[in-house]
Amino acid sequence: MMRLSKRRSLKKWEQDMAFQRISLLFKLAHSCNKDRPDRSMRYMKLALTIAMRYRARIPAELKKRVCKTCNTYLIPPDTVRIRLIDGYLVYTCLECGRKKRYPYKHISRR
Ligand SMILES: [Zn+2]
Repeated sequence: MMRLSKRRSLKKWEQDMAFQRISLLFKLAHSCNKDRPDRSMRYMKLALTIAMRYRARIPAELKKRVCKTCNTYLIPPDTVRIRLIDGYLVYTCLECGRKKRYPYKHISRR
């Protein structure tokens, strides 16, 4: 029996489930990041895999917390350094050194 049909349409509950799993993985990664950074890295990898498979959208808030290069869960000041440069928040992953910029005004809207 073939169960590898990739184009099968995704049902609503599947995407909901994927989203719930992803948020759970982020929570787990958050709680064990200090003691077991290797584990939180695995959680992040899993979360991204699930998101891809179910085409679930990861909320921007959460997306910012993963290094795309090495999947490290980013918690300032442990695994990421955040600087404000020219109106951008610059996130530097302390694990692999990757930098990512986010516009600052987006966050500090008054
Ligand atoms: Zn990194």
